[in-house]
Amino acid sequence: MKKSDLQKIKNFEALVKGQEKTFVGYPVNTQFDYSDLYGLLSYPLNNVGDPFAEGYYHLNSREFELEVLDWFARLNHAPLDNYWGYVTNGGTEGNMYGLYLARELYPKGVVYYSQDTHYSVSKNIRMLGMEHVMIKSRQNGEMDYQDLREMLSTWRCAPPIIFANIGTTMKEGIDDIDEIKKVLHSLAIPEYYIHVDAALAGMTLPFIDNTPIYDFTTGVQSMSISGHKFIGSPVPCGIVLALKSNVGRIARAIEYVGSLDSTVSGSRNGFTPIVLWYAMKKYGFNGFKKMVRKCVRNAEYAVRSFNAKGVKAWKNDFAITVVFPRPSDKIVKKWQLAVQDDIAHVICMPQVCKQVIDKIGEDLANET
Ligand SMILES: *Cc1c(COP(=O)(O)O)cnc(C)c1O
Repeated sequence: MKKSDLQKIKNFEALVKGQEKTFVGYPVNTQFDYSDLYGLLSYPLNNVGDPFAEGYYHLNSREFELEVLDWFARLNHAPLDNYWGYVTNGGTEGNMYGLYLARELYPKGVVYYSQDTHYSVSKNIRMLGMEHVMIKSRQNGEMDYQDLREMLSTWRCAPPIIFANIGTTMKEGIDDIDEIKKVLHSLAIPEYYIHVDAALAGMTLPFIDNTPIYDFTTGVQSMSISGHKFIGSPVPCGIVLALKSNVGRIARAIEYVGSLDSTVSGSRNGFTPIVLWYAMKKYGFNGFKKMVRKCVRNAEYAVRSFNAKGVKAWKNDFAITVVFPRPSDKIVKKWQLAVQDDIAHVICMPQVCKQVIDKIGEDLANET
């Protein structure tokens, strides 16, 4: 390899390092150290196929993947004798899997999802060729249950597939599973499916007391959580969990790899399950609880200090996402803020400390 090519990589690394300092708009933890795992990058680890099935491809990390799944199953009170899941390439794949499963169970089902749902979901629904209805959102990003009721009554004959957000992308709004079930029951709808998109909040709410409950005890049937968001990972990843009794209906045995073709991707990342496992062992429940508490406090601090500077900021209960009026493009660019229409947000991930919040606050205040 030419020296100049190697230099290009070094320069890129320096650029990335610099950009990380003003990375406050996306829900991605940048504070991690997986150097203990670097040796594993010399091997073609691949978790091809079903994590629960023995396969012929032995360079895999299924053992770690199963422990990660067990941890998330317990965290979300999935039935330990009836859950299934795998480590995905991210939240999008987990949502796609949930919708795919729902479609196989209810081929005539209609997907209901709120206006504030992540942009990838409408694409997933188109790819799967599913009927869908968009539900209005409330101001805080949560689903409008009155609108859900009206839409459900209109489409009465088809089984509803509810795509619920546990933390919307822009405002971290939480759809109330209890309210949704009340609507379904009051309309005497006998059969339905609820999938939960807990990309970000799936790693914050379980560590906060007295939060809305969206776990498997509520009757939700599948759930997608991002791994690279709150936990942090050098490679995007996520976790999907579903009820095993549902999954059994779609798995197909594949002789070539000696496994079941039950996942969206065939070849799957063998490194990311070890990343998640490492974080799980390093922090454990209590470590994550501390981390989450600090982030929530920082978010509360950001709301207070922005408002004190005349910037109308707010956040949802339990959220680490702070929403405020969209500033100039200069500020959006400088802090890599995520924007939508007339709002922007800062997400108080572990690297967004008070000093950073103060600097953003000053920049915002200088414009108002
Ligand atoms: C980020 C996000 C997704 C997509 O997750 P990826 O891991 O980026 O694929 C889906 N839903 C919500 C609510 C998100 O915030």
